[in-house]
Amino acid sequence: MDMSKTISKKTQKTEMARIAAIRTKLAELFPEAECALQFHNPLELLIATILSAQCTDARVNLVTRDLFVKHRSVEDFANMPQAVLEQEIHSTGFFRNKAKNIIACCQKLIANHGGEVPAVMDQLVQLPGVGRKTANCVMGNGFGIATGVVVDTHVQRLSHRLGLVPESIMDPGKIEQKLMQLIPQKEWIVFSHRLMRHGRQTCNARRPDCSNCSLAELCPQNGVQTH
Ligand code: SF4
Repeated sequence: MDMSKTISKKTQKTEMARIAAIRTKLAELFPEAECALQFHNPLELLIATILSAQCTDARVNLVTRDLFVKHRSVEDFANMPQAVLEQEIHSTGFFRNKAKNIIACCQKLIANHGGEVPAVMDQLVQLPGVGRKTANCVMGNGFGIATGVVVDTHVQRLSHRLGLVPESIMDPGKIEQKLMQLIPQKEWIVFSHRLMRHGRQTCNARRPDCSNCSLAELCPQNGVQTH
């Protein structure tokens, strides 16, 4: 009998049990975790997600609260002078690029998709300013279709700390692929919301509160500096 194969199978089983326990614990902690961005339809979600790059969801919600009252349709955004939109989204950072992308994105929605946000991953990623993370977010939260795992800064950090993904893997696309192998597809959408909530609440970037963390027994605390 090949002992090394037996040991590695056993290790894999233990690791899958640990990951299952993490999923269970996160589900207990955040049973209703959902998208923190506020929106009423897929277009608003798409725009809010573009605005959320390098910005907190709370700040985006503050900006969109007024933005989505003033401008309601895809035509409103497609026809808006860039300087006006820049001013309205200024506080979300990278406002020039975001304004340019939102306007171009809405123009493309009108030209190619009848003014609707397509519920098709391959079509979403062709839109200006829309990468895989944004597209996953729209597919999952706008249409309820699990096409992948949204990997934002919280999901990236926690995936490393919790030992779900090796710290050497930094590329969000590769982190997502790894998480998609570890987490059942029916949990892809909610799992990232739960990690984000835990990241904001307990496992924050600078000072993770490991001594009060409900996942502490399951977590190798990779990369966490102990003081
Ligand atoms: S134990 Fe520490 S590093 Fe691990 S999830 Fe909790 S807060 Fe984060």
